[in-house]
This record gives sequence, structure tokens and C-alpha cells, in this order.
Amino acid sequence: RAGAARGSWSSESSGSSGAWEPLYRVVLLGDPGVGKTSLVSLFAGVQERDVLEQHGEAAYERTLCVDGEETTLLVMDTWEPEHQCLQVGNAYVIVYSVTDRGSFESASELRIQLRRARQPEDIPIILVGNKSDLVRSREVSVEEGRACAAVFGCKFIETSAALQHNVAELFEGVVRQLRLRRGGKEP
Ligand code: GDP
Repeated sequence: RAGAARGSWSSESSGSSGAWEPLYRVVLLGDPGVGKTSLVSLFAGVQERDVLEQHGEAAYERTLCVDGEETTLLVMDTWEPEHQCLQVGNAYVIVYSVTDRGSFESASELRIQLRRARQPEDIPIILVGNKSDLVRSREVSVEEGRACAAVFGCKFIETSAALQHNVAELFEGVVRQLRLRRGGKEP
């Protein structure tokens, strides 16, 4: 089990404190203001951005127990599709706001950039429609989000960071997607 996780880690050896432990890097992408920081803060269980924030970028590490097995995620909050972000992730969460159609269009663009950057790999990608609580200012329907995810061959979930709705489910979903790939690759 640990060996399988290490296999995916070994391809990206730089960065961390040198610890040799199973760890998956999860990168959040999306327009400014869609709720990335809010989602990551909920994941980290912190109220303020006080952990590992350097160079305008935050990363939080947490071990989740999903389906009786522990997995450690290092979740990185970024707001630009910088080259490096597209290279380092073991999984990607592309966030848009259901109240902002422009951010939905950006999400599609990010998906395309990601595919270009990591063409041969089968990386888990989850499309997230955040701010589902803002019913009256919704500009993107659930159906549109789902259809977009189907076209792009990725998972889809709507969340509300404000109501803490589906946020735990989102990160559990990331873990399950990573495990599915792991299982497929390891003999
Ligand atoms: P980021 O720029 O993508 O990191 O977005 P932030 O996490 O900083 O959120 C931008 C703004 O949207 C903040 O004022 C948040 O409080 C607000 N926000 C984030 N998620 C939600 C949500 O699910 N519902 C509502 N109503 N507001 C949210």
C-alpha cells in the first residue's frame, strides 16, 4: 500500500521537507474570487490563512481517513495557471463560481491547458461549481456544470464553502479518484 503511494510520489521528488512519505499534491485552479481559499481553509480546518503561506501561495497538508484507509493530501491554493502548477499536481480541482459565468468559461480553458500540459497522463480532475448557496445570483445551472464535466471526462460536484456543503465530499472524492488511478497502475 505505502509502496504504491510512494510510486506516485517518487516522480516529484523536489519541494517538500525531504520526508519520504505517501503524499499526493492536489492543486486548486480557478479564477480569483471563486472560493478556492475558502474551500482549502475548510479542508485544513482553519479559520485564517495562517499555515504555510509563502510567496502568495498557501498549501495545507492533512491526512484523511476515507473508506477506512488513510491518505495524506497536500492541497495547494493557487490562482494562476502557472506552468509549475500544471506540472506538480497529482490531482486537480478546477473551481468556478455558479454565480459567475466568466469563471465557468475559465474553468473550461484551464481544463484544456491542463490536458495540453499533461497529455499522456491520466490525472484525476474534479470540476467544482462553488457558491451553490447563492441561489438568486446563479448564472450556471447544475446541468451545465455536469455536461461540461462529461465533455471533459472529469468528475463534478457543486459545493458551498459558505454553508460547508459538499466540501468534505469533494476532498474524499479526490482521494477516491487518486486511489482508482493507483490501483490501475500498480500490478
Ligand atoms: P479565491 O480568490 O478563489 O481564493 O476566493 P475566496 O475563497 O477568497 O472567496 C472569495 C469571496 O467569495 C470571499 O468573500 C468568500 O467569503 C466568498 N465565498 C467563497 N465561497 C463561497 C460560497 O460558497 N458561498 C458564498 N456565498 N460566498 C463564498
